[in-house]
Amino acid sequence: MIISLLGPLTFRIKLIAPYRSCATITTIFSEPNKFKSKFDYSYVPAVLRDIENKWKNKVDGYWNNVVSKQQTTSDTKYVLSMFPYPSGQLHLGHTRIYTTADLLFKTSFLCGENVVNPMGFDSFGLPAENAARINNQDPFVWTNSNMKQMKSQLKNLGYHFHWRESTSDPSYYRWTQWLFLELFKSGLAYQGISQVNWDPIDCTVLADEQVDSDGKSWRSGAIVEKRFHKQWFIKTNAFAEDLYAGDDIIDTGHWSFILAHQRWWIQKPNGYLFYLTMSENDKSGLDNILQIFTPYPELFCTPKAFIGISKQHWLSYGKKPGEIVGQIRNPFLKSNEKIDIRLIDDENFPPSTQATLFTARETHPDETKRSEVLNRASSLGLGGYYTSRSYRDWLISRQRFWGTPIPIVHCKNCGPVPVDDQDLPIQLPHIDYSKISSFTSTDISSPLKNFAPNDWLSVECPKCKTDAIRETDTCDTFFDSSWYFLRYFTKPSDRKPFDKIRLRPVDCYIGGKEHSALHLFYARFITHFLQSKGYLEFREPFHTLLMQAIVKARTYKLNGKYITAMEAEDRKDVEVTFEKMSKSKGTGIDPDLLVQQYSSDAVRWTILSVGNPESERLWDSEEKEFGPTFVFFHRILLTIEEYLAVKCGQLKTKPLDAGKYDEIIKDFSKQTDHHIFNVLYSICSSYQIRNGTSTIHKLINLLRANIRNDIVHTKEYERALASLIIMLSPFVPCFASECWQAFTSQLKANEYCKSYGFDYSKNVVEQKWPKIIDSNFMYIVRFTCRNENGREEEKKRIKIPLKLLQSWSVNEIRNLFKSIDEHIEWIEIVKNCSIVIRLKNQSIDIPPIRDEFVDA
Ligand SMILES: [Zn+2]
Repeated sequence: MIISLLGPLTFRIKLIAPYRSCATITTIFSEPNKFKSKFDYSYVPAVLRDIENKWKNKVDGYWNNVVSKQQTTSDTKYVLSMFPYPSGQLHLGHTRIYTTADLLFKTSFLCGENVVNPMGFDSFGLPAENAARINNQDPFVWTNSNMKQMKSQLKNLGYHFHWRESTSDPSYYRWTQWLFLELFKSGLAYQGISQVNWDPIDCTVLADEQVDSDGKSWRSGAIVEKRFHKQWFIKTNAFAEDLYAGDDIIDTGHWSFILAHQRWWIQKPNGYLFYLTMSENDKSGLDNILQIFTPYPELFCTPKAFIGISKQHWLSYGKKPGEIVGQIRNPFLKSNEKIDIRLIDDENFPPSTQATLFTARETHPDETKRSEVLNRASSLGLGGYYTSRSYRDWLISRQRFWGTPIPIVHCKNCGPVPVDDQDLPIQLPHIDYSKISSFTSTDISSPLKNFAPNDWLSVECPKCKTDAIRETDTCDTFFDSSWYFLRYFTKPSDRKPFDKIRLRPVDCYIGGKEHSALHLFYARFITHFLQSKGYLEFREPFHTLLMQAIVKARTYKLNGKYITAMEAEDRKDVEVTFEKMSKSKGTGIDPDLLVQQYSSDAVRWTILSVGNPESERLWDSEEKEFGPTFVFFHRILLTIEEYLAVKCGQLKTKPLDAGKYDEIIKDFSKQTDHHIFNVLYSICSSYQIRNGTSTIHKLINLLRANIRNDIVHTKEYERALASLIIMLSPFVPCFASECWQAFTSQLKANEYCKSYGFDYSKNVVEQKWPKIIDSNFMYIVRFTCRNENGREEEKKRIKIPLKLLQSWSVNEIRNLFKSIDEHIEWIEIVKNCSIVIRLKNQSIDIPPIRDEFVDA
């Protein structure tokens, strides 16, 4: 009768007696045979949503509490994602970065590390201003409402960050202004006339790097026009030699790729760059800095020398080749002589140079004179930086409203004068946006110049107290973001930009590959600068880089136009490719919708379990993406259900071969250790997250293979299952919480669970990362050193039994390798996971130090 009512499925199940959890706590497993009876996985999303409804607030509560109580110290592990721009809409590419950061943060915390994962917004920039023009809305209001929306999206996905300021908060940009003034006072920020790239659509000046190889703007796509304009520059050339060398870069993760890119950009230093001031009384009538590049600075001391400029130079306007265009005082001659500036034919001009030294006579390198010139240049602040002829200083001023105001006052008597520190921040004034929206200017001028109130614009000169006017250009957003990683060990209320004592380089910096060149370069420059001024102890800001490739979606094109998947269905003439996700191609995916439909756990797992971070993530149809995820959840649900049935005595198991019992159990336990280690290694050391998710699958296979034999009754099986659920918690916290509750409801706290470090009275998110119990388990120790090209290479790897490592402190490791201690440059320890010993040079032999150490 039952068979006919419920169909053949029930018949198959009736072969095993139906089992029911004997626990009193109600969980998803309380209903008998809930999961056994399912042969498709379509039920999984509903189960996951139920689980999420039950656990989300509890899990959030726990992690919010952890985050709020955490104190940063000098040994804090520092995980950081690149701050997003508040466009208002989180996209799938973002979720990949933040899920990885969240996983790294929570896994490290479970391992007992003091770890932080700060977050804020890189919130100045053009889109807010464009939106303000179109909608007549205050950029501040637009930006804040977008930030609010994105914060809620981040929360829905289950991330827990240490929230800090955004770059448009006055408490933050007060220190961006401080940083600008430090550069100004050090002679590294200056105004120079230069040929600039004018974007006629966005009506703004662009940096060279923001113009593509076709001469188009990176943002608007407009053909860029060349104009001359006075701009603010930062002398990045001052550190070109050090930035090129990258001596302090520890070559892990993606650094070699990024450094190669940055070196290509800087080019190998091959000469010296000087900055001479053209005085106001000069015939050219321009008060400006003249940059001169020369491989032979000693030519400054040759009486017949002159400065040659190319046709591209701003001074050449309206002049003929051979003509003298001006004179400048030669600061390297005691007689105060002037040196001619002459326009030179292009064919006689060294490539990539606009001004260099020539002489009428043949000269020979003179090292004594060269060092005299360089010393004098250094003492007078005239440069003399060793750099390449093609590398240009950083243009940081923008004729924009929504940016950090440059804290300078222009005075007729004193020139550009820095604002007093006590007057910072110079806050953006309130302006009327209805005027801006109808205002178009073909002039290079900022909206602040045209629309800021008079009492903001007109000020007293801090030096001579006469009438002066404020600088109306603002900083490029690359300047705002060039130092936020230094800010996040301090509080917004702190009266200092950062905490030198506690601050350390970011241990793992996670971001999109496409942002790697510019942002990472400027970040390095600023850190080098602050270290040179004694503000920081280190000069390379990021230890490991994890640059993630973009998420691409399947796109459909018909006759060159994008169409939706639905429109493409059943058509044969459609071109199918994978391209960067975008709304205009019909492929923008809202993570919120995915969370609503499948739960945040399912989205997190799906994002992480396919492809390693640095490879492009090709996002297929939802069916194909989530299919394997549902099988994964189903297999775990099944395992827990059957385990509970065993514990209640409702499921019989097969006996083990009595003669091999010990051996089988030992092997099972070894495999468990191996998997626990590999999951941690993949997340925290190699950052190959996908290898971690495949290892979790292997552990599930091991558990499923033994669920119907007597191993399931052992403490070793209990440990393996507990370890699985704990390791799942940083990936899929709600799901792991439900599994843990059901699992522990059947178990009493016992001696061995304590020895494994589990606490069954607490939720899974409060557990510690599972321990490896085999004291003979072998850990890999890698020895590395730099090769002739400065790249880090592995010299040797050995294996050391766990019992010898014990607490894994640097001192302990130094003790183990006493005989080569003096050759050790640095030791990197990822807790309970990996050790890298960096040696000072390649020629050091690593002797067989102890019998227990074996070659790996
Ligand atoms: Zn003045």
